[in-house]
Amino acid sequence: MKFLNVAEFFEKIEQANSRLDMMKHLAEMLGQANEQEIASLIYLSQGKLGPDYKNIEAGMGEQYVLESIAKISGYKKEELQKKYKEQGDLGLVAQEILSKKKQSSLYTEELTVNKVFANFLKIATTSGTGSQESKIKLLAELLNSAQPLEAKFITRVPLGQLRLGTGDPTLMDSLAVNYLNEFQTKEKKLVQELETKYKKPEDLQRQLRMRLREKIEEKYNIFPDLGKIAEMLKQKGLNGLNQIEITVGVPIRPTLAERMNTGEEIIEKLGNCAIEGKYDGLRLQCHKNENTVTIYSRNLEEMTAMFPDIVQGIRTEIKAKTMIFEGEALAVNEITGEFEAFQVTIQRKRKHEVKEFSEKVPLKLFVFDCMYLNGKNLMPLPFQERQEKLNEIITERKIVDLPERIVTSNALEVNSFFDQAIEKGLEGIIAKDLNAPYIAGARKFAWIKLKRSYKGELHDTIDAVIIGYLKGRGQRTVFGLGALLAAVYNPERDVFESIAKIGTGLSEEQLKQFAHDLEKLKTKQKPARVDSVLNPDVWVEPKIVIEVNADEITKSPVHTTAQQEFGTGLALRFPRLVKIRTDKQAEDCTHTDEIIKMYKNQKHVQVIKQEGSEN
Ligand code: AMP
Repeated sequence: MKFLNVAEFFEKIEQANSRLDMMKHLAEMLGQANEQEIASLIYLSQGKLGPDYKNIEAGMGEQYVLESIAKISGYKKEELQKKYKEQGDLGLVAQEILSKKKQSSLYTEELTVNKVFANFLKIATTSGTGSQESKIKLLAELLNSAQPLEAKFITRVPLGQLRLGTGDPTLMDSLAVNYLNEFQTKEKKLVQELETKYKKPEDLQRQLRMRLREKIEEKYNIFPDLGKIAEMLKQKGLNGLNQIEITVGVPIRPTLAERMNTGEEIIEKLGNCAIEGKYDGLRLQCHKNENTVTIYSRNLEEMTAMFPDIVQGIRTEIKAKTMIFEGEALAVNEITGEFEAFQVTIQRKRKHEVKEFSEKVPLKLFVFDCMYLNGKNLMPLPFQERQEKLNEIITERKIVDLPERIVTSNALEVNSFFDQAIEKGLEGIIAKDLNAPYIAGARKFAWIKLKRSYKGELHDTIDAVIIGYLKGRGQRTVFGLGALLAAVYNPERDVFESIAKIGTGLSEEQLKQFAHDLEKLKTKQKPARVDSVLNPDVWVEPKIVIEVNADEITKSPVHTTAQQEFGTGLALRFPRLVKIRTDKQAEDCTHTDEIIKMYKNQKHVQVIKQEGSEN
């Protein structure tokens, strides 16, 4: 497939102002790719060079990209720098420069997806002395053969700023569009069933597409590599999809916890259940293949090198050949045996002085689930059975331990376990449905968290994504940042819905950092997947997740969260920034349905309070 063709599609996708349009263009583009290029095309559409867990990055800063453009255009770096300052986007600079190039190329070739991707991969894997020069040359080679429109997108990829605005859910929907015919032919019974409910052909088609998208998503949750999934689909159609399985070395998308406010509510929902301490550390997903151990963060980034002590603990204390499991690692004071605060544990998330810190801040890993063991997928088994297996395997328990746990159907016992947990410095408790399978990538009452409540505040913080900012006045103009506009994610619509303007709680240091990070994410117009009636001074690509505390959730006509449900939006009252969640991707922030539940729950609590005071 010619890259010019791809660039034309990218242009349409970038300019699309609805998700449906985006999906249509994506589906058409993916439909034109062959088996050898579909995976690369998917990664390029994500603005990446591989699935997230492989961490393949071009490692090219703006300066090197500028040099590549200078090399092929005859412009001086300083001239280009000036243009970059004016435009704020090197892609646009490259496009403009190429349309009035000063020197003509000696040798050009027509670019293909494979050629472009191959050069990017070479850029990513080149290291050592002279590597910067090689990277500049490899990019210049592409730009030398590029049409202006191609150059716009080629320049953005190594900077990690493609900005098409497509999320993985939209890509999955587009794949579903392309395999709908096969799905309909194979799933005759389902079609008949849906036909009785959905009379209009367009409604029926949408329902079928959603069902197929769910099937794709199920695989994506255990194998989060859309390139590979698209390749299997291209090769073997839906049979290829069925062949995708849980694999040691490919991280699974983590299961998520619902939230509740009391032990009574939990028992009412789950009945007899397991209650575990909620450790406030780092969630680690560990893959063991004989002596090879790989560790992934909650965000599915590989972090093995950061935890040599945990790797060793897994090697010596776990009696299994192959295994995929999850736990929370946290710092424990060696002298007192007490758990340390999150701020202590987080020091272990580092690239340098790893050995020194592994001695200074030793960690313990509390293993709370097991998804794969000795060649067998344990995900479908009930939680209780998975736990029994963990108990058999983990015996030594010096570095690798199991969380404290009780099994009960008594709310009083839950509450007292909760109090003890808080006393020990834990964050709260997590209740687990004894019969539930491991549900990858979703929140379905298999786990329920109960956290410490802060008087007069929401029971839990929410994680929101920054979608824009307002420029400040006075002192804050120094960084050009006054308030942040934040949103939560609605997975059904694959849209970020605005929920709060956050003007307080930012220290000068945070302001500076944000101003810097947000500058790179600026977009000219509202990103297609953002739903907001407020117009901030600057829109940014939804990427940075922040943890926010607030007094309560209120109805608000100026925000769009849950508008579909209530006719008017929901907003956070007195929002305050708690911390930046570098461990979460945009779509992993709090979802709209959780906000709706928190809102209803809060009303419920208020009614109970009022009733109580009347008595
Ligand atoms: P939250 O991040 O507040 O949504 O809470 C869920 C997180 O609690 C999980 O992602 C884990 O990192 C953490 N956690 C701590 N202890 C446990 C436990 N015993 N079981 C499951 N998750 C736990």
